[in-house]
Amino acid sequence: MSETRDRLFYKQKHVCDVMDEGEAALSEEYCRKYMAFLQKAKTERLAAAEAIRLAREHGFREFDRNAPVKPGDKVYRCVQGKLLLLAVIGTESLERGVNLCAAHIDSPRLDLKQLPLYEDHEVAYFKTHYYGGIRKYQWVTIPLELHGVAVLESGEAVDINIGGDPGDPIFYVSDLLPHLGYKQAEQPLAKAIPAEKLNIMVGSHPLKGEEDGERVKLAVMKLLHEKYSITEEDFLSAEIEAVPAFPVRESGFDRSLIAGYGQDDRVCAFAELQAIYETDRPARTCVCILADKEEIGSVGATGMVSRAFDCFMGDLCDKQGVKPDHCYESSFCISADVSAAFDPTWPEVFEWRNSAKLNYGVGISKFTGRGGKSGSNDASAELMGKLRRIFAENGVVWQYAELGKVDEGGGGTVAGYLGDRNIPTVDAGTPVISMHAPYEITAKHDCYMTYRCMKSFYASK
Ligand code: MN
Ligand code: MN
Repeated sequence: MSETRDRLFYKQKHVCDVMDEGEAALSEEYCRKYMAFLQKAKTERLAAAEAIRLAREHGFREFDRNAPVKPGDKVYRCVQGKLLLLAVIGTESLERGVNLCAAHIDSPRLDLKQLPLYEDHEVAYFKTHYYGGIRKYQWVTIPLELHGVAVLESGEAVDINIGGDPGDPIFYVSDLLPHLGYKQAEQPLAKAIPAEKLNIMVGSHPLKGEEDGERVKLAVMKLLHEKYSITEEDFLSAEIEAVPAFPVRESGFDRSLIAGYGQDDRVCAFAELQAIYETDRPARTCVCILADKEEIGSVGATGMVSRAFDCFMGDLCDKQGVKPDHCYESSFCISADVSAAFDPTWPEVFEWRNSAKLNYGVGISKFTGRGGKSGSNDASAELMGKLRRIFAENGVVWQYAELGKVDEGGGGTVAGYLGDRNIPTVDAGTPVISMHAPYEITAKHDCYMTYRCMKSFYASK
């Protein structure tokens, strides 16, 4: 390459051309931890619980708004078991702002309806209502497991977890056999599997000795009562999620890829967690947000629109007599969410130059959104410049990440909700193949570089 070309042209870096053996080993070690987390964090509640368990191992304690906090303290607050906020208090005043990373821990799935159990032609089923942007045809004929909670009239909460252990039964949504699927095959993809056919098979044996109808439903209800002490009415105050029962696995002959469910956005959630776990006595206070409900618009008390975040920040600021708004305006936020990785099998929906590629590091997006950047946050050039500097100083391999061709579609993240609070915010995350599918693919070294991105951002001034 000529010297002029070298000096003037932007050249993207492949992780394998940058990382030496020592760093590749660190990446492997990080990915082992990430895969173990992903295997446990099948729902937002399970992700929050596992994050708290690991946080406590790293010296975090539950935040008490009436107790003093001092620089170096590590605290967390969990809201309704689904939104998790962690902070490591810095040596500088909160008036100087905080370094904030915000990921989400909810993922697309099939929720059970509130009256799910029924019997049809002597097979028992659960009705479902899908959550988030799923391609419905991907959710039939795969193993499913069930996780959630039923709250009884007494107020007692009963955890429901079945299908995840190898000895457990799994659950299943049927599809037509090809021999009888000719008419279905003529339907557009979005219509071939109607939502009301996403019914989960849960049993087929009738209750012995019963003569009347619904003998199979009764047998299933009896098993549920024996195992969980619940009756049919208790489903009304339950939230139970059916998620893919696939194990998290390495993928490819070279084991360079990770296959797993819910990598959007637990891959970024874990990167933030590992980075903040390893942060001790930073100059600027570091805050990690793991939000719920991103996949349905960041709604409700546990979503990013909620005041729960402001309440936590307000409590921290109170300790130092700082106004939260004054803290926000000097803060910076990385909205840590996955981007689409360029898929060589489907190049037609991507714009190669501006797409994230597997193994080119963490993806940075100045903006997201749909059409003319609708619903986007659109980070400033100044903030993009600041990130470039941080990454250059710390050897973080990164790339630009636009979701796809402008007219093909689009999507959003929590970035806009942080921007609304007057916090300069930019999107960054791991590129993913087949985002929102029951089994998603990431590249190990991209996962590692996402963690390196968060870690160097937390340490920045
Ligand atoms: Mn996401
Ligand atoms: Mn998503």
